[in-house]
Amino acid sequence: MSAPDDPRCEWIECPMADGRTEWIRGACNHLEPVEVRGVVDGELLAFLCPDCDTQLPAQWKGTLS
Ligand SMILES: [Zn+2]
Repeated sequence: MSAPDDPRCEWIECPMADGRTEWIRGACNHLEPVEVRGVVDGELLAFLCPDCDTQLPAQWKGTLS
């Protein structure tokens, strides 16, 4: 059994006692962060990942490949 086809996060292989393999969610890849902008001047303050509710630094976009 291969990992679930979901690129939004890492998947960790977890062998079960009965021989099955379960896949549990690992680290989120933050693929689709949404912009968080200041209400006054519209300045980009940060990004928020809707998949894991993690706030990411405003510089995040530059690290996407
Ligand atoms: Zn995330």
